Amino acid sequence: DDRTVIVGGGLGGLRTAERLRRRGHRGPVTLLAAEPHLPYDRPPLSKAALTAEQEPEGPPLLKDRDACAGLDLDVRTGVRATALDTAHRRIVLDGGGTLGYDRLVIATGVRPRELPALAGLEGVHTLRTWDDCLRLRAGLRAARTVAVVGGGVLGCEIAAAARTLGLEVTLIELAEQPLAAVLGGRIGGIVADLHRAGGVKVRCGARVERAVRSGVVLDDGSHVDADLVVAAAGSVPNTEWLAGSGLVLDDGVLCDRTGRAEGAEDVFAVGDVARMPHPYREGTVRFEHWTSAGDGAALVARNLLAPPGERAAPSEVPYFWTDQYDTKIQCLGLPDPGDEPALAAGSPESGRLLAFYSRDGRVTGGVAFGMPAALARCRKAIAERVPLADLLGSAPWERRSL
Ligand code: FAD
Repeated sequence: DDRTVIVGGGLGGLRTAERLRRRGHRGPVTLLAAEPHLPYDRPPLSKAALTAEQEPEGPPLLKDRDACAGLDLDVRTGVRATALDTAHRRIVLDGGGTLGYDRLVIATGVRPRELPALAGLEGVHTLRTWDDCLRLRAGLRAARTVAVVGGGVLGCEIAAAARTLGLEVTLIELAEQPLAAVLGGRIGGIVADLHRAGGVKVRCGARVERAVRSGVVLDDGSHVDADLVVAAAGSVPNTEWLAGSGLVLDDGVLCDRTGRAEGAEDVFAVGDVARMPHPYREGTVRFEHWTSAGDGAALVARNLLAPPGERAAPSEVPYFWTDQYDTKIQCLGLPDPGDEPALAAGSPESGRLLAFYSRDGRVTGGVAFGMPAALARCRKAIAERVPLADLLGSAPWERRSL
């Protein structure tokens, strides 16, 4: 009866179901969610959910039970897929049962990467799920000093949240600046300054060697005091359950440009777990951004229902944001961290700025600190990768009166 099964009850999975219904698809749709919760939103978990005074009642649901029923969506929480048999179009469940499908969407996301130096140590926090968030929230309230290992988006947000709660915070990053892997060293330096101004000790170019009772030891032999250690050093796609399925696994589920998984018919992937070609980059990309999960869901829902010859490729401009202290940092486009940023408005000192990345004279992306409307006005120019000189000359970010 044309059953669609979505494995993974997070943002990408839920949005795919919503998009299928919005396109008028009437067939049965089942969503398997390993966690005991209905689909919830993750961005608040490293921000307000950590700092809010009031104990949260539950995860920030994307849709409650009634709304899921309104979509005629069969959500099965606490059910994990453990294997996939593409030949018989069957999913094996952790209880031992199986579930057949006609179309399958893989939306199992990622989990925190384990740091070898901290592996197996009790009391080292990671943050991906609501349950992780509750543990970290309680841990931060019992601690005085915290070491955050990893200066990516997540590590920076956790460091900012811990400072907001008044803890002594050290942020430890292997690269020369925090966020350098996504925004490059120059903008990363501004992020480092933001954290220093917030009172965080920023230790870049440093590797954690081991944990000791009183904190962690770095590769230069120095000791960082910490009652609580958070590891935020990247993630690993949840693809183990797909071993032997015939799908191509390569740091994610490898898909073609339509989101269809290589190696099987009628199997697609969305969200953090999906790796696919993108018009802005050679090779393939795998995003771990909220907006990308929604864009991927829209694409896959469309392509699931389209005949193979009429499937579309991604066309949205990649985007992510991160909130640190009171600053919203946003990035539009897909700059290479090596692309030079040019300041277009504001200044690092003022805490508000707009800069454009470019390569070979053409714009590859834009980054804004506290200037959301200005960046949004440049979306078209970034999408079209106009010459940097044209964009700087036309100043579309300045609000012009009519
Ligand atoms: P997820 O939302 O992780 O959902 C995957 C689900 O699949 C999980 O619930 C998992 O339990 C389940 N699952 C895994 N394996 C199985 C299995 N075998 N069977 C059944 N279910 C399974 N992005 C931004 O752009 N801006 C932000 O500010 C931002 N903040 C974030 C803060 C935090 C703390 C985190 C963790 C992420 C943040 N993100 C942010 C990223 C964004 O939330 C993700 O890109 C988005 O959640 C991806 O959706 P997804 O559906 O691919 O994965």
